[in-house]
Amino acid sequence: MDKARLASALGAPSGFGQSQFALTRGNAFEAKVKADGGAELLRLAHARLDPGAEAPRAAAVPDLTAQGPEGRTARTALALREATGAGGWTLLDHPMLALDVAGSLAFLEPDAVVVHPDGSWSVVEIKSFPMLDGSADPAKVGAAARQAAVYVLALEDVAARLDPAPPVRHRVLLVCPKDFSNLPAGSAVDVRKQRAVTARQLARLTRIEEIADSLPEGTCFAPDRGAEELTAAVAAVPATYAPECLSACELAFHCRERARAAGTVTRLGRPLRAELGGLTTVEDVLAAARGELGDPDDPAVAALRRAAALRAEALREAGDREVAAVCR
Ligand code: SF4
Repeated sequence: MDKARLASALGAPSGFGQSQFALTRGNAFEAKVKADGGAELLRLAHARLDPGAEAPRAAAVPDLTAQGPEGRTARTALALREATGAGGWTLLDHPMLALDVAGSLAFLEPDAVVVHPDGSWSVVEIKSFPMLDGSADPAKVGAAARQAAVYVLALEDVAARLDPAPPVRHRVLLVCPKDFSNLPAGSAVDVRKQRAVTARQLARLTRIEEIADSLPEGTCFAPDRGAEELTAAVAAVPATYAPECLSACELAFHCRERARAAGTVTRLGRPLRAELGGLTTVEDVLAAARGELGDPDDPAVAALRRAAALRAEALREAGDREVAAVCR
């Protein structure tokens, strides 16, 4: 489903995504990096990922246009096959890859994929956050690494269909503006960990058919349905909102409202939720702190009661000080 349209139809339009200004700036930077047949981008790929290979002079940039995502995916696979073993550098500009996600194909579009002279493949991510003195904001680099790891997995699927399968490199090229200029700087990012985590998560995902089978008959998420019907449809799917959703999902405002109304503790952050064990609502947490709920031997319940006792003592002492001040 188109989650941004669904969020608008639910009356909670998404605040997720980049501003128009950031998008324009990002596109202009990407165009600059890929200008002249990707000469600068390939220079960075050579310098950061494969300095032992011959320097890229005239790289091939195959045309990847085709009809629809399936057509573009097939065109990309063909271009990768042709480039592998050609012995030179090839730049695939906005290739299209497909990845099986819970039994459904998801189409992915990396900024670029480079085929090295030895036939190996590398993912390239171009971002508009700055690289200051050779390093960038770790949180942003981490997000880019997670994104690139998904592309690596999708590329590995393509590679597995070739005989012999070409290696897909697990060090990706991250290209960002250098300091506060518009000049590109490149950095090799090792995504082995993110790749392993994503592969594990993908393997554990519940199949889409199983989720669909568990929904009430007739559940429909089409954004042209009424808000009431859509709210019921979305409520039929279990969701665990956390503040992290705000930067990752178009339905975040809707889910935040639902989490607030239900008084769930996940909206206060996943680490806190983990600390509280079986106490899943604010109401339960307060009841446990007052001694009305929970097993006193449960470390979370014991900690809450200790905290409640300390708070009561602090309030009592503050009250006593106030009374003493009034008496004076
Ligand atoms: S719980 Fe989070 S990730 Fe799931 S639908 Fe809601 S906002 Fe999106």
